[in-house]
Formats: sequence, structure tokens, C-alpha cells
Amino acid sequence: MALNPTPGLPPFEYIKPASLAEASAFLAEHAGEARPFMGGTDTFVRMRDKAWHDKFVVDVKNLEGMRNITFDPQNGLTIGAAVNMNQVAASPFAQEHYPLLVEAARSVASYQLRSRATIVGNICNASPAGDTLGASILLGGVLHVYGVDGERDEPLSEFFHGPGKTNLKPGDIATAVHFPLPPADAVGRYIKLNRNNDGDLAIVGVTVLGYPDSATASGFRFKIALASVAPVPLIATAAEDILANSPITDDTITAAAQAAMDASTPISDTRGSAEYRKLMVRNLVKRAVSDVWGKLQG
Ligand SMILES: Cc1cc2nc3c(=O)[nH]c(=O)nc-3n(C[C@H](O)[C@H](O)[C@H](O)COP(=O)(O)OP(=O)(O)OC[C@H]3O[C@@H](n4cnc5c(N)ncnc54)[C@H](O)[C@@H]3O)c2cc1C
Repeated sequence: MALNPTPGLPPFEYIKPASLAEASAFLAEHAGEARPFMGGTDTFVRMRDKAWHDKFVVDVKNLEGMRNITFDPQNGLTIGAAVNMNQVAASPFAQEHYPLLVEAARSVASYQLRSRATIVGNICNASPAGDTLGASILLGGVLHVYGVDGERDEPLSEFFHGPGKTNLKPGDIATAVHFPLPPADAVGRYIKLNRNNDGDLAIVGVTVLGYPDSATASGFRFKIALASVAPVPLIATAAEDILANSPITDDTITAAAQAAMDASTPISDTRGSAEYRKLMVRNLVKRAVSDVWGKLQG
């Protein structure tokens, strides 16, 4: 009889602390062998696959504020770490003010998976293919973190250092992600290229946010983030500059798409070759910027 290559989860201890302070102290004391989790859709799969070997999984989902999603018309949207992606996508506040985040969340896997998977888990997992990272960065997201030295904020623009590598330290627990109000009249688009419609990771993901900006020569600002084409979510700054500095025409958009392709440094893997990914960056940036430009023109 053939052996099952993934027979199930290895033994681990389930820890349910009563407070953030208790959870943080436990995680710091057991650095390297304990991990907090939210939906567990990365955690338990990676443990089953023997890529992660944690002795302790620390359940912080039910601690204070973790399941709240709140909107303040002056300050923006705050999504508790344990709020799942379906709850974000169903939030009237998110739909009205942050449709780009909703579009990105809805692109993740299946409805079933999104009833467990969280945006904060997607961020903390720091996969270059994470679908919601681009929108979270472009919308000015800030992670609220509780650590052994107290609370702090981590702007997502400086949070990612490589696959699975972030500013989080042992003992840190992300409690929420906060988004300020988007710029006036901002519109966005997320295009995900994957091998099928059944929950595959992105071969390439292109997030674009655009809005009027009187400070630029073109009168508009476009922000562009690329997934799955670099070790971290890649901000295509050269492409953004082209779109800020020249009138928005087909030629300008084509030049920006080329600059985004030139900036990307993908690897080849089972989902696509590096060459294919680079070419698709050019195609999809052109399409996403054109879509956003069309929406900006009403
Ligand atoms: C079948 C399948 C399909 C998938 N498809 C996609 C897809 O299409 N797109 C995509 O982007 N991802 C996909 N994923 C990956 C995964 O679902 C996402 O990354 C998800 O957002 C992770 O959220 P989670 O709440 O389940 O994270 P968890 O598994 O709970 O945690 C993930 C990581 O973040 C850390 N972490 C979680 N919460 C905290 C916290 N509060 N403080 C500090 N660290 C924390 C954990 O320690 C762990 O290292 C898929 C996974 C599976 C199993």
C-alpha cells in the first residue's frame, strides 16, 4: 500500500492565553518554537507539510478587539487581526471606502478558505504572492502590534524584508491593521493571474491605486504594487514616476508598464517561468492602469 506523504499534523500543544500580555510573554519565552495564529490556513498547512516545526500554537483570536472591524469617518478603517476575509469583503465600510481591499480579499482562494483566512495573517505570513499585501501597502496600511516592550505601529511600506521575513519579533502579536481614509476620488484595481479559478496563488498580481493630484505634472498619482515577482511586494516606483510626470496617454501607460516589467525580478517555479512573469507584469500593469485611468475619467 502506498504511504501517505502527508499523514497529518505532528503533535503540538495548543495554548490559549487570557491576555495579550500573557500571550506575548509566552511567545517571547518560547521564541522559535511557538507561533500565534489567526485562521491557521498557512500555519496548519505548513506544520502538516513539516516546513514549520512549532511545539506550541498560541490562540489569540478571542482576545480583546481582535474580532472588531470599525470605521471612523475622520480616521479610517481598523480591521481586527482575527476578522476573516469574508467579513472584510461584506463590510459596508470596506465596500464603500476601500473597494480595492475588498477586490484583493475576494481574489484569495475560495469562499470557504476566506471564512478562516485573515488579512492580518496574509500580511504576517509575508508571502510574495500574498494577494492583499499590495492593496494594504498602497492604502497606507499600518499594523498595530503588541510586543514585550508594549504597543507600537508598523507601517506596511517598511514591514516586509523577504519571504516570511518582517519586522515582527518574538513576542509580537499583530492586533489589527489600520487604513487611513483613501485620497479623495481614489479608484483601484487588482488583477491576479493564476492557473485556475479554484484558489491558486498568484503567478503575478498587479495592484493599482490612482487619484487626482494637483502636485504632479500629469495631474494624477498612480501607485503600483506587484506580487509574485520579487522577494517582497514590489512597489514599481519608476512606473509611478512616469505616470506622475507625463500626460496620461497610451504611450505613457505603455512606458510605465515597461518600467514595471524592468523593475521586477521574479523566479521560475511550478506556477510560471521568470520570463513569463516579467512579460505578464507588462501586460497586466498596462491593463490595470488603463482600467484605473478609465474609472478616473468617469
Ligand atoms: C488552499 C489554500 C489556498 C490559498 N490561496 C491563497 C490565495 O489565493 N492568495 C493568498 O494570498 N493566500 C492564499 N493562501 C494562503 C493563506 O490562506 C493566506 O496567507 C491567509 O491570509 C493567511 O491568513 P490566516 O489567518 O489563516 O493566517 P495564519 O495561518 O493564522 O498565520 C499565518 C502566519 O502569520 C502569523 N500570524 C498570524 N496572525 C498573527 C498575529 N496576529 N500576530 C503575529 N503573527 C501572526 C502566523 O504566526 C503565521 O506565521 C492559501 C492557503 C491555502 C491552504
